Amino acid sequence: MSLHGTYDAQNIFAQIIRGEAPCYKLYEDEDVLAFLDVFPQSYGHCLVVPKRAAARNILEIDADNLAKLMAVVQRLTRVLVDELEPAGVQVAQFNGAPAGQTVFHLHMHIVPRYAGETLGVHASVKADPAALAQLQARLLQRMAS
Ligand code: 5GP
Repeated sequence: MSLHGTYDAQNIFAQIIRGEAPCYKLYEDEDVLAFLDVFPQSYGHCLVVPKRAAARNILEIDADNLAKLMAVVQRLTRVLVDELEPAGVQVAQFNGAPAGQTVFHLHMHIVPRYAGETLGVHASVKADPAALAQLQARLLQRMAS
């Protein structure tokens, strides 16, 4: 499965959206869901996904849903920067396996970058659940303030 193909409704993010798989949820409305990446490449690595669009990548989503997605990406990026105070932040998105995509439901990565820290390997090391829960609580509190 790569740049062109059929949407697989059993992909992990579709399962998370349907509530069939767990996530460390940060934000949800009727169109968009945001949660922590469980294989984070840096502290605070988040994912933002469209809920209503069965889009594997940016080529397949309509402009309205894309705009709603990006509005949440910007909002969550601000929260991450305010709370975690990284030196920089990457907002990234991959289309097709050769571009680095491993889950074929469109998603935006928000990856805080800290001075002197190299990026972890993509989708490789699972974070400690307690640390993820603690980070989730911290970000939720910041969002509520
Ligand atoms: P992609 O490689 O498609 O751009 O990104 C997929 C992302 O999903 C990776 O960063 C990977 O760590 C993350 N990921 C894979 N499986 C799960 C999961 O079950 N839960 C969460 N929260 N993230 C996942």
